[in-house]
Amino acid sequence: MRVEVLSTGTELLRGRTVDTNAAWLGAQLEKAGLEVRHRQTVDDHPGRLVDALKLACARADIVLLTGGLGPTEDDYTRSVAEEAFHRPLVFRPALWKAIRQRFRNHRIRMAAINRRQAYVPEGSVVLPNPHGSAPGFAIRQDGVFFAAMPGPPREMMPMFLDHVLPRIRRKAPFEVWEAKAFGLPEGTVDEAVRRAVGARATYGLTVRGGQVSISIRAEGSRRKKTLHDLSRRVRAALGECLYGRDLPEEVARGLLRAGKTISVAESCTGGLIAHKLTEVPGVSEVLLEAAVTYSNDSKVRRLGVPPGLIRTHGAVSEEVARAMALGAARSSGASMGVAVTGIAGPSGGSKEKPVGLCCMAVDGWVERRIFQGERSHVKERAAGFALNMVRLKLLREEGHAGKKLGLRGRR
Ligand code: AMP
Ligand code: MG
Repeated sequence: MRVEVLSTGTELLRGRTVDTNAAWLGAQLEKAGLEVRHRQTVDDHPGRLVDALKLACARADIVLLTGGLGPTEDDYTRSVAEEAFHRPLVFRPALWKAIRQRFRNHRIRMAAINRRQAYVPEGSVVLPNPHGSAPGFAIRQDGVFFAAMPGPPREMMPMFLDHVLPRIRRKAPFEVWEAKAFGLPEGTVDEAVRRAVGARATYGLTVRGGQVSISIRAEGSRRKKTLHDLSRRVRAALGECLYGRDLPEEVARGLLRAGKTISVAESCTGGLIAHKLTEVPGVSEVLLEAAVTYSNDSKVRRLGVPPGLIRTHGAVSEEVARAMALGAARSSGASMGVAVTGIAGPSGGSKEKPVGLCCMAVDGWVERRIFQGERSHVKERAAGFALNMVRLKLLREEGHAGKKLGLRGRR
């Protein structure tokens, strides 16, 4: 099953808009066991679009296009499909009614030109768009499945998940199992996964901010069973380093499960931990407060860090990190506190405390690491590290932690 993604829009070629649609679709398709072989980006030009679509249909089984469904003169997707598939555009009264109703509901005056969006190539299946006026459409012809979806990501993504993916999922030759690992070098994860998987499947690893994403792909009629076996072996090998979702989500769920709340105190990460946590829907159940206590004074005033501690050990120290975490919990009434203090660089380092030195604390548990790289990278690593400590602490308290491989927790 070859999949091709076609992105249309002059703005994409000029770099005014980054083609996030193609990247997102690639990731979704991989997860679903389908594989993108080619990707084309074409400007808003009918001739070049027809050429691109014909080429895609000649070499792929599934062609997914985004963009060009608007009502204006430079939105060519409908007429391009008409030409490439030799299917005249037909007016769909039901679509027209839905479009008018949408404008009425939003109390916006509709331009006459919007009537164009009620036309789709003959014999196509209409893909509803509850988030915008442009409906999508799908066509099956000569062994090719073609879907046209709107350009705006917030319209395209639900349309793909609700109306396109269910139509192509059956064709997927692979079953995929995904997991994450934190706290182990990529090489170590690779070795463990390679040993577990052997020749029974293929796998890939990607690393970002200290988190290694593992994706194992199996083929054949027994692929579900194969993945079940392999995932158990990987779990046994990686123990508590392994988890299922992105770190912030994992932490939020862990807190919910444990019935605990958390507060955050950040220095060098400048709110990054709070940002990551607040990306998770529903986190308000467990996140009470987050403070960016950048100056010594604010660490004392907001968190109750003893001034003597800062004088004796310095603001970047295990002692202060611990006091920050405990202070964040105490001052907000949260059941847990997490804190980071460090030297993000590029200046401010010394021999004893080099640039990249970060101290991360969860309640009384403190870890000290030196992260390499530029400022933003150090922040990213420290935030991830601290979140992983929260994850581990919750897991260990829950009592069914696997084999300890990474951090040794102390209270
Ligand atoms: P269109 O459906 O072509 O009118 O696109 C409408 C808007 O969607 C564009 O102005 C972009 O902001 C956005 N858009 C279109 N294509 C993409 C894409 N491939 N990736 C991300 N955003 C896109
Ligand atoms: Mg466009």
